[in-house]
Amino acid sequence: MNIIKASKDLSNLLDSIRKENPKVTVGFVPTMGALHDGHLSLLSESVTKSDITVCSIFVNPTQFGEKADLEKYPKPIENDINLLMEAGCDILFLPEYEQVYPDTYTHQEFDLKNLDHKIEGASRPGHFQGVCNVLFRFFEIIKPNFAFFGQKDFQQTVVAKRLAQLMEQGPQIVVTPIKREAHGLAMSSRNIRLSEKGKMNAAFIYKALLQLKEDTEELNLVEALQKARQFISAQKGANIDYLLAIDTITLDEVSRIDQAQGVAVVTVIEYEGVRLLDNIILK
Ligand code: AMP
Repeated sequence: MNIIKASKDLSNLLDSIRKENPKVTVGFVPTMGALHDGHLSLLSESVTKSDITVCSIFVNPTQFGEKADLEKYPKPIENDINLLMEAGCDILFLPEYEQVYPDTYTHQEFDLKNLDHKIEGASRPGHFQGVCNVLFRFFEIIKPNFAFFGQKDFQQTVVAKRLAQLMEQGPQIVVTPIKREAHGLAMSSRNIRLSEKGKMNAAFIYKALLQLKEDTEELNLVEALQKARQFISAQKGANIDYLLAIDTITLDEVSRIDQAQGVAVVTVIEYEGVRLLDNIILK
């Protein structure tokens, strides 16, 4: 695996490969490191679908609201490198801040059709514009044919699709299913902040989502959501940040399943001081 730190080196290398073989396809997996099986499922999807797989590890400051959250982010780089090699990654892009945001770069405001202000965006102002700025830079440097995102960060997949649409040579966005622990908790780099017991207990989130989906066969959506909220609130130490049914395209809240072409339930539960994201597609 080639480890590249300079943007110019990466774009030059990929350009020369493409010059030699214009048919070569490049898959890109953006991450913030502290890799787990969820990230590796994206890698595996890219390795299958593309000739060359590029993975980036970059903890992007422009998408963190609080500096403390950014500083707390785990950085086990040696382990990440080993995992990427085992996964068949061809290139690891490991840039410093200046490589992504040179002095000549001005932070952009993308027209995200308000997608960035809804759900997660409502409590994290600027977060999705930050995500789009870093993705824009990566897409510019790498010019990937495909970019792989996990369904776990549902809103991010919708925002990334919008960004790709806005770019002249944007990649095809490929979304892969949520990878879970055996008991059901969605894998996340943040899970290491949970106690062992908390990690086991937090399986109630997926349990609630599965039950909610099943309940929609008997109850209407509002009732099923209400039942799920009651179940979650009854778990000691759990606080619901939100639990919403949304239109999978506009991200607007829906109250009936027949109200949209695609419907998902997205949630954030605060547990042991950690924000745990999860979601389930209903339709
Ligand atoms: P992150 O390093 O948290 O920015 O995540 C990088 C990518 O991995 C994003 O596209 C995430 O949605 C994806 N990802 C994170 N956790 C999971 C998971 N449990 N299953 C599938 N993909 C995931």
